[in-house]
Amino acid sequence: MGKIMSIANQKGGVGKTTSSVNLSACLAQLGNKVLLVDIDPQGNATSGVGINKADMSKCVYNVLIEDLPAEEVCVPTNVANLDIIPATIQLAGAEVELVPTISREIRLKKSLESLKEVYDYIIIDCPPSLGLLTINALTSSDTVLIPVQCEYYALEGLSQLLNTIRLVQKHLNKELMIEGVLLTMFDARTNLGIQVIEEVKKYFQDKVYQSVIPRNVRLGEAPSHGEPIITYDPKSKGAEVYLELAKEVISNGARVG
Ligand code: ADP
Ligand code: MG
Repeated sequence: MGKIMSIANQKGGVGKTTSSVNLSACLAQLGNKVLLVDIDPQGNATSGVGINKADMSKCVYNVLIEDLPAEEVCVPTNVANLDIIPATIQLAGAEVELVPTISREIRLKKSLESLKEVYDYIIIDCPPSLGLLTINALTSSDTVLIPVQCEYYALEGLSQLLNTIRLVQKHLNKELMIEGVLLTMFDARTNLGIQVIEEVKKYFQDKVYQSVIPRNVRLGEAPSHGEPIITYDPKSKGAEVYLELAKEVISNGARVG
């Protein structure tokens, strides 16, 4: 049975999409069958793996709102072993349209159930909010990976996210666990980055991944070429560290999965 993992933090720009795309691609490169699920209406993960959103007639919206079987929306990417359920701008209405629907919090979970047999990992890229789309992701997931940017106020807002995780555990998905906290955009030239790492480790202790994602120009460029870092620039520091992270996630599997 595959493992479903949400990548969530209601702050924008902390590296959710970059981590979703690159962790998925690295897990795929290591021989796992991986499905990336884009549930952010901005669709950055979708374009990040080279899918042209304008060409997509169906997306995760049709699965969530119209009960279209998820299998019918999975499309292959240019990376071997990596498929995606894309998001298009149509998804922007879903947050509101879900409100009056039956079992609105568990719609994604139901749709992904059959796909757990097909994929080793299903990675969900969440939008920057704690609304019904993120709740659907957390309710579907075995674990949640929290990216934290090495910046001022890194921990700010995390208590809201942790509170949402606790509410989901209490009412919707008692199996949900924190997969780990991922430090992103680390700049070794500043003391600030080092201070943030210490602060986050004090708070989350052994939940923090050893792999720390550096600020890396090539990581920032790759999405505009529609490629994950391991194909865009396999020798870059960004590619090296996301591959390390994928190995950590695989070895964690035995512990938390
Ligand atoms: P989120 O999904 O949390 O909003 P993104 O992953 O889209 O965040 O990252 C925000 C911006 O920062 C994007 O333009 C992305 O390309 C860039 N970025 C993310 N991680 C890095 C990194 N490690 N080094 C350089 N640029 C990065
Ligand atoms: Mg994003």
